[in-house]
Amino acid sequence: MNQQQHGRLRSQFPALAQKVNGHPLIYLDNAATTQKPQRVLEAIARYYSTDNANVHRAAHALSGRATLAFESARETVARFIKAPRPQEVIWTRGTTEAINLVAQSWGLSELQAGDEIVLSTLEHHANIVPWQLVAQRTGALIRVIPLDKNGDLDMDAYLGLLGTRTRLVSVAHVSNALGTVNPVKEIVAAAKAVGALTLIDGAQAVAHLEVDVQAIGCDFYAFSGHKLYGPTGIGVLWGRTELLERMPPWQAGGEMIDRVSFAGTTFNVLPFKFEAGTPHIAGAIGLASAIDFITDLDKAELVRHEAALTDYLVAGLRQVPGLRLIGEPRQRAGAVSFLLDDIHPQDAATLLDMQGIALRVGHHCAMPLMESLGIGGTMRASLACYNDRDDVDALLAALHKLSDFF
Ligand code: PMP
Repeated sequence: MNQQQHGRLRSQFPALAQKVNGHPLIYLDNAATTQKPQRVLEAIARYYSTDNANVHRAAHALSGRATLAFESARETVARFIKAPRPQEVIWTRGTTEAINLVAQSWGLSELQAGDEIVLSTLEHHANIVPWQLVAQRTGALIRVIPLDKNGDLDMDAYLGLLGTRTRLVSVAHVSNALGTVNPVKEIVAAAKAVGALTLIDGAQAVAHLEVDVQAIGCDFYAFSGHKLYGPTGIGVLWGRTELLERMPPWQAGGEMIDRVSFAGTTFNVLPFKFEAGTPHIAGAIGLASAIDFITDLDKAELVRHEAALTDYLVAGLRQVPGLRLIGEPRQRAGAVSFLLDDIHPQDAATLLDMQGIALRVGHHCAMPLMESLGIGGTMRASLACYNDRDDVDALLAALHKLSDFF
């Protein structure tokens, strides 16, 4: 992508054009949530302005249009992650709800005392706590893959954890705190070899890597729309048909039923069995628009742009006196964590914010990871397709100033 093309891409994000604290906004908190392109904002406004109606009750024109847009959004998502069938795409509120769905539906109905769930040290709380709740109720046990000193999963230790009791391996595709890209194909293949199911938390992967759920070979894949230039409140659980069909519903109400009587209820087919109540119609339409934005741009090109920019950021951070990178994974996407000697991350973030530079500090909802690293938290800069070298240079210059001052 040349500079002119990148400038055009960036100009599609109205939020990036503003000043913050008197400075042009340098938005480097994309792992928390990305900004939204104009076309996503317009798709949502258009839906509410012209097509707003409830879905799947198409007795009138608006409802027909809303249903068509909503279901074609599902097809867009299926194509985007190379899912074989759109009915395997379940709308959720986000990654958190997608993982809770699997935990509550599959976990509570399938797990027994002594069964094992394998997670990793670098998981987001959203891929830890749902399993702890299920483990408490079923007597299942949680096993944790350790990290090596660089922030990569210790694959030998992982293989050592697998056995006949392993029922599920649930790991992040990309770490939100360290940016580590996990070898998910290898992880899935090893889990399959012992007959375990696999769930991949793709919250930090979908915007930065090409995702092909069939090539990965996993059973479930979860992600959130808002980290992919789409709206908040919408996300996806993808699962294999034969598993989803065997799983019981987890939330109940309208939409998810076939017939209801006080003598008993039968349930709807996929995906509706898992979509009780009026869904986030505008959210699904907005997410599809975000995916169209990415696919129109050429995702492979975006991935290359971000990879080069990440290398540039990491190389620049290494030059800042007193700065320590936290995690040096073999492959990295999106996020880079670091600490500055003698400066509390919160103070540093406040000083950066005064210069219009937005990044995140803290434990990044990965307290067990922070504990394993022996730190309370990090400063995290995370990139998106609209960031460029100017953004990185602004951050580096500000960090050099902080480092000189302290
Ligand atoms: N997993 C990972 C790796 C994440 O980064 C996040 C969001 N920070 C989540 C899960 C949870 O996503 P959401 O809050 O959108 O449900």
